[in-house]
Amino acid sequence: MTKSIQIAQKWIQDADAILVTASNGFSISEGLNLFANDQKLRDVLGDLTDKYQIPNLLTAFGYDYPNDLDKWRAYARVAEYYSHDYQPGKLMDYLAKIIDDKPYYIWTSNTDHHFALSNFKNVFEIEGNWLNGICSAHPKEHGVVDLTDQLHDIYLKDQQGTLTADDLPKCDECGEPLALNVASENLQIDQTQLEGFSDFVQKYQEKNLLILELGIGPNNQLIKGPSTQLVAATNKSHYITINKGEVSIPEIIGERSIGFSSSIEDAFEELTTGKDLGLKVTGPVKPQAELSPDEQKEQLEFLKQIFPSYMIERGVRPSELSIYLTIDPKHMSHLHLLKEGQAWMYSLGNSALVHCFTRDGKYYQVQLGLDKSKKQVHGFYIEAGTAVAFEDLNDNGAGFSQLSGSIPSNSSGEILLPQKSALIEMFPSQAEVINRLAADA
Ligand SMILES: [Zn+2]
Repeated sequence: MTKSIQIAQKWIQDADAILVTASNGFSISEGLNLFANDQKLRDVLGDLTDKYQIPNLLTAFGYDYPNDLDKWRAYARVAEYYSHDYQPGKLMDYLAKIIDDKPYYIWTSNTDHHFALSNFKNVFEIEGNWLNGICSAHPKEHGVVDLTDQLHDIYLKDQQGTLTADDLPKCDECGEPLALNVASENLQIDQTQLEGFSDFVQKYQEKNLLILELGIGPNNQLIKGPSTQLVAATNKSHYITINKGEVSIPEIIGERSIGFSSSIEDAFEELTTGKDLGLKVTGPVKPQAELSPDEQKEQLEFLKQIFPSYMIERGVRPSELSIYLTIDPKHMSHLHLLKEGQAWMYSLGNSALVHCFTRDGKYYQVQLGLDKSKKQVHGFYIEAGTAVAFEDLNDNGAGFSQLSGSIPSNSSGEILLPQKSALIEMFPSQAEVINRLAADA
């Protein structure tokens, strides 16, 4: 048995609770591939595949059908095959074995409802599931309806050739047609699921929490982003990620992370039996040697020259330094390039706007603060190689905004300033922001 497997098994064993996160890599391992154009797509959708040239299941849900009968035929055929006839397989057995009798929650973007159909009770479906419907005219007001039986009924009538418009689901309140409650601007998050999930995170975030990530690709940040931030922002949590071909672990949590670049089934087998299947397993990665006191002092002096309002102290974890950054409306931080990934948290005062320019050409903004209605977040993680600047939003009358960040203490202390002209060339639509925030070097 390899060392990594032993450590991963111990993390599972010692965990106070397990947060399972899963996205479409998990569904694909179960035989449900939303993106595949294959015989199975034809078997499930039947004549609708050629009638509308539907290339995959994802399109079957999003397609603008010329009539509602065919739309609901497509939904019902998919739901019959992948939900009504669903039989939990080996993966679900393994998962139940790993969770054992520990408190758990499953956080998924999969809309197939498979975890619930496999008898897992604590599931948060962040993109809804295709067995639920909402009113197309009043999605917020008229509630969420369970369509399991109705979809099966539509399927049977479709097969018998007796399906009529009267069989299609309508809103009990207003009579308007129903729509599926899956990822769209009208999506209604299940409040019971959401509350259960929030309570779980509150209760266990400072305890020995294990995050077990299943089939989430590096570019799918909907769940991966906040869950890795949760690990970064807490002390005792551990992170095990399984994704064939592409494992990505933020550097800052490397010491508490193990990654399997393998099929989920093989990784589950190694984790539950200890058998060495020769899988590609990486981590945990020890942080590099810490700086000497002299080097730390030098780093601090250097930071002070560029950011007079930075204050540095030893972080909670021995391998990290905490930075406090105070900005005000007249003094934003200049755009600088991160050599290491960093976690940043809102601390005090006004909310702050963070401008991020990634090395692969994406620009995005994040608001750090407490107002959830403005989509502000308390903390987030910025990948290495991102150019970043912080600006005070001047919204609480505090006169300043204070943030706290953590960086690895082996950082060289160099501050890298991106070249203004090169950055504008790469992000022409953000020229105004760059001109305002980049140092005139
Ligand atoms: Zn209605």
